[in-house]
Amino acid sequence: MNAVMDTIEAPLGKSAEKIAHENNKLHKRLCRLVGQAIGDFNMIEEGDKVMVCLSGGKDSYALLDILMTLRERAPINFEIIAVNLDQKQPNFPDHILPAYLEKLGIPYHIENQDTYSIVKRLIPEGKTTCSLCSRLRRGILYRVADELGATKIALGHHRDDILETFFLNMFFGGKLKGMPAKLMSDDGKHMVIRPLAYVKEEDTERYAEVKGFPIIPCDLCGSQENLQRKQIKAMMRDWEKKFPGRVESIFSSLSTVVPSHLMDRDLFGFAELKADGQANPLGDIAFDEEPCSTPTTGLGVISLQRED
Ligand code: SF4
Repeated sequence: MNAVMDTIEAPLGKSAEKIAHENNKLHKRLCRLVGQAIGDFNMIEEGDKVMVCLSGGKDSYALLDILMTLRERAPINFEIIAVNLDQKQPNFPDHILPAYLEKLGIPYHIENQDTYSIVKRLIPEGKTTCSLCSRLRRGILYRVADELGATKIALGHHRDDILETFFLNMFFGGKLKGMPAKLMSDDGKHMVIRPLAYVKEEDTERYAEVKGFPIIPCDLCGSQENLQRKQIKAMMRDWEKKFPGRVESIFSSLSTVVPSHLMDRDLFGFAELKADGQANPLGDIAFDEEPCSTPTTGLGVISLQRED
C-alpha cells in the first residue's frame, strides 16, 4: 500500500489506525470495482496500449492510479500512456501534470491545442461553450490516439456521471440512454473505455484527498457548469441521503434491461408478438402488479408503492 494511504491525518475522533484501515479498504474497493468493470466489458486485452486521458481532475488521477496498480497484478500485458490536452485556458498551470507524471515515471504526452480561443471566438458571450469544446477535444484525442498507436482511450467517468447522463437524456432528451462503459467511436476506428463505471463519485473524491493528487481546478475556462446536470447531481445526492440504496438500484437497472417491458418497437417485435401457449418460467413475477394495492392480510390493504 502506498505510504500516503497510511499517513493521511486522522480527523478528530478517529484513530490513525482506523483511518489507515478505511483508506486501505477504499483502495481495495476501487481496485476491485475497476477490475470488475474491465472484466465485465472486456475493456483491456493482451497487448493493448491504453491512453489514459488526464484532465487534472480527481477522477482522471484516480483512474490512472488504479490502472497502474492493476497493471502490476494483471495476468495480461498492456501499456499505459497518460495524455493531457492543454487547451490553453487562462491561468492553466501547465507545470503540474508533467511534474506529477515525471515523478510517477510513466510515459506521457502533453498535447497543446488552443481550443479555448476557438470556442471563445465561435460561441457568443453568455452561451454555453461545453458542447463545442468537448467536440473539439474528442476529435483531438482521437487524432492523438492514432499518433501514439493507442488501442484504447480510457476516460475517467464514474458511476454518477453515467447516471447523470442517463437522467439528462431521459428528462430533457426523451431517450433512455446513458454513457456506455465501452464505446466505439462514430467512425468505427477508436475504442473508448470507462474503467471507473462502477465507482461512486464520493469514492474518487475521498481517494483524491487520501492520495493528495495535485488537482487542477476545472473552471479555468470561465464556463458555468451545466445547470441541469448540477440539479440532477443534487437530486441524486439528496436521494442517497434520504433513500439509501435507491441510486444503486437505478444503476443496476441499467444492466438489467427488459425490452419486452418497455415501448421501443425497434428493440422488441411487439407487432409480431403472438400468444404461443408456451409458459415462460422467468415471466412476470415481480412489480407488475397494479400499483394501488395487494389483497388484505388482516391488517388492511397494504400499498405496494413505497413511501418515497
Ligand atoms: S467546462 Fe470549459 S473546458 Fe470543460 S467542457 Fe466546458 S468549456 Fe470546455
